[in-house]
Amino acid sequence: MKRDLKTIVFKVNPENPDEEKINVAAEVIRRGGIVAFPTETVYGLGVDALNKEAVKRMYEVKGRPPDNPTIVHIAEFNDVYRLAVDVPEVAEELMKRFWPGPLTIVLKASNIVPRITTGGLETVGIRMPKHNVALALIKASKTPIAAPSANIAGKPSPTTAQHVIQDFYGSIDVILDAGPTKIGVESTVLDLTTKPPQILRPGGVTYEELKEVLGDIIVHKAAKAKEDIPIDEVKSPGMKYRHYAPKAELIVVEGETDKIIKEINKLINEYSKMGRRVGVMATDETVKNYEMGIVKSVGSRSDLSTIARNLFRILREFDDEGVELILAEGVPEEGLGLAIMNRLRKASGYKVIHVS
Ligand code: AMP
Ligand code: MG
Repeated sequence: MKRDLKTIVFKVNPENPDEEKINVAAEVIRRGGIVAFPTETVYGLGVDALNKEAVKRMYEVKGRPPDNPTIVHIAEFNDVYRLAVDVPEVAEELMKRFWPGPLTIVLKASNIVPRITTGGLETVGIRMPKHNVALALIKASKTPIAAPSANIAGKPSPTTAQHVIQDFYGSIDVILDAGPTKIGVESTVLDLTTKPPQILRPGGVTYEELKEVLGDIIVHKAAKAKEDIPIDEVKSPGMKYRHYAPKAELIVVEGETDKIIKEINKLINEYSKMGRRVGVMATDETVKNYEMGIVKSVGSRSDLSTIARNLFRILREFDDEGVELILAEGVPEEGLGLAIMNRLRKASGYKVIHVS
């Protein structure tokens, strides 16, 4: 990808974004340009969702396969009824309870949504982000904004503007920098076109929270998979692609915490002897148990939101420090743990060791 554009980087206040800067960015969106902006989950690579040319350019810049659908971001509840048809009542309940917030609902797409935006599907994923910069940008643009995560396809998602600059400086028009994102993993993608509703991707809103509202709900097996799922069994074609991967090789060790520590120490030893630069992604509770390798804590096991927030940043840090092999501790698949393990397993290309 050529990097010959003059990218404008605006620092914006995350709570009260400067109106002038938002207006400049919104004008870029209206003219079919690309604006990276913060949400509460990760940074997004935004374009006018209804402008085919703009969406096409965004896919090219990101290197995103054309059959991987993009989430459409809105700032007004009513926009759902422009973008989708046959909206079930339960969608309204979910919108009231979780929007703005990290929940994407998949509905039958209306005719105004270009099929390039939906990756060729007849469904559309919609969400209202909980971030004043994102909401101000969408409102000022006066159009829904299609935005995948603002990373080159396949790489770890961006949780700071610095990550976006690394991947896209010179190839997009504007980057709105409002500091690190709060949640750190992407939104939960919930398909409401099936009965019962299915979680296609676990994320910021947990299975447990959705179950409370919906009662009947299933997690698509690709979302929980510990190995690659055959392509004909994935729900959206986008689920088949490699995701979130650092440059380093990544191995995830799952199981009881004391056994994880033992296994990782064994692996550090083996790989260090082979001359490889090894990194360990540990947690606050376990970080003192490793004596070799480059050891980083990703957050606390007693508050998984801290791990979600730091996960992608730590993966990128290991790459920046030239680590060749990352050994990552698994966490229980409860609450945000389901999203964390989904990202880690995919990032590893399903190199998962289970110790028991
Ligand atoms: P990203 O924006 O990079 O976080 O990726 C968007 C995610 O939302 C991908 O996992 C897509 O497969 C999913 N998604 C978006 N729209 C749809 C849809 N219409 N049907 C199924 N999945 C969708
Ligand atoms: Mg992504």
